[in-house]
Amino acid sequence: MHELAITQSMLDVVLEQAKKAEAKEVGKITLVIGEMTGVVEECVRFYFDFLSQGTLAEGAALSFQPVATQARCRVCDKLFELKEFDWACPYCGGKEMEIVAGKELFVESIEVE
Ligand SMILES: [Zn+2]
Repeated sequence: MHELAITQSMLDVVLEQAKKAEAKEVGKITLVIGEMTGVVEECVRFYFDFLSQGTLAEGAALSFQPVATQARCRVCDKLFELKEFDWACPYCGGKEMEIVAGKELFVESIEVE
């Protein structure tokens, strides 16, 4: 259960940006969440509603942009989507790869009024 801490730090970022923009209200927040982070959207929504009470972000709409896990094969250099527990390159069967996407976790944008 690490969503509480994650949601709190995202909310901090949002509130800081909203303050800089001298916003009265935060309308929409777009979050980019990589599949590998294991973050559960429903949990983030739940904590967000709770944590944002009484802040500028209260009632803001959350939008999630999931990022699939992508790997690059070190043998044949091809990019492919990594399925859970299937750690082999679908092209050459190679088992050496690097993760190039899927660990993202950040606030992409916020809309303020
Ligand atoms: Zn390969």
